[in-house]
Amino acid sequence: MLDCIIVGSGPAGISAALTLQANGKSFMMFGSPELSEKISKAEHIHNYPGLSNVTGKDFAAALKAQLAEAEIEVKNEKVAGVYALKEKFSILTQENSAYESKTVILACGVESIKPIDGEESFLGRGVSYCATCDGFLYKGKTIAVVCTTKRLEHEIRYLADLAEKVYLIALYKDVAPMPDNVTVLRKMPKQITGARRVEKLVFAAAPAENLSAELPVDGVFALRECIAPTVLVGGLEAENGHVKIDRNTATNLKGCFAAGDCTGRPYQYAKAVGEGNVAAHAVVEFLK
Ligand code: FAD
Repeated sequence: MLDCIIVGSGPAGISAALTLQANGKSFMMFGSPELSEKISKAEHIHNYPGLSNVTGKDFAAALKAQLAEAEIEVKNEKVAGVYALKEKFSILTQENSAYESKTVILACGVESIKPIDGEESFLGRGVSYCATCDGFLYKGKTIAVVCTTKRLEHEIRYLADLAEKVYLIALYKDVAPMPDNVTVLRKMPKQITGARRVEKLVFAAAPAENLSAELPVDGVFALRECIAPTVLVGGLEAENGHVKIDRNTATNLKGCFAAGDCTGRPYQYAKAVGEGNVAAHAVVEFLK
């Protein structure tokens, strides 16, 4: 069993990984080979000690080089669930793999777009975060896919192969050509409604021609870089929308730590890196 699993490959996750590596712990870091869009999209970074006026792209390149040098791999899988069991954690990914670890560090960042009203209450009743886990339930049906990042377009195509009709609510630029059964909408989703299960996606403003303000759908997929930690980890305590941690980054769940943007403001690299480091040290102490 692994000593630790790190969820997220941004500055917080990377910092935790480097510290765990230096302490000889076994771990896996889940995330993206591109590390974090919040690094690569930064135009110029002025506030990171030692790096004056570095571009986000150069910062990302430097982090990738450092990981390669330390022989740390970023596992390109999306964590779909973290389950606290007796003295261990079970981690399931959207790629249908399962892993076990003694501890977990949540470093999954925050989603800049708020959840849709009704999203969490309809989870498992027509709302899903995982195309490969739940796509088959919508074979021949009509679904809405709310997607915030180009990086997850392969999941939209996967769903288009199964569903009869897909409405893609694209909350990002430069949508790639999509299969014929996908209609791209540039509208802000406001609410998910229904009786027992999802029935409609309601938009914030009057949508484009030929479409009503309410879209009748059988299901809604919300594809984002970051799944809310409280959805990811059952029983995790949150405060004002962030994971609640103590001075040592410990959450309310024994062996589960959190670092970076997901624990609250300020949303900054230096704070994420600092907390990632504290979390890794806390893991080392915990394992003793
Ligand atoms: P993130 O960087 O958000 O990384 C989280 C990672 O976890 C992502 O790669 C995500 O894909 C991955 N992830 C999430 N959920 C899962 C899951 N379930 N499974 C697997 N992986 C998952 N801060 C500054 O200090 N200075 C700046 O100049 C600055 N400029 C910025 C410019 C822009 C455009 C933006 C958007 C942010 C900027 N920030 C800046 C803020 C900074 O980017 C964040 O504070 C920092 O990236 C937070 O690091 P993090 O590791 O907590 O999270």
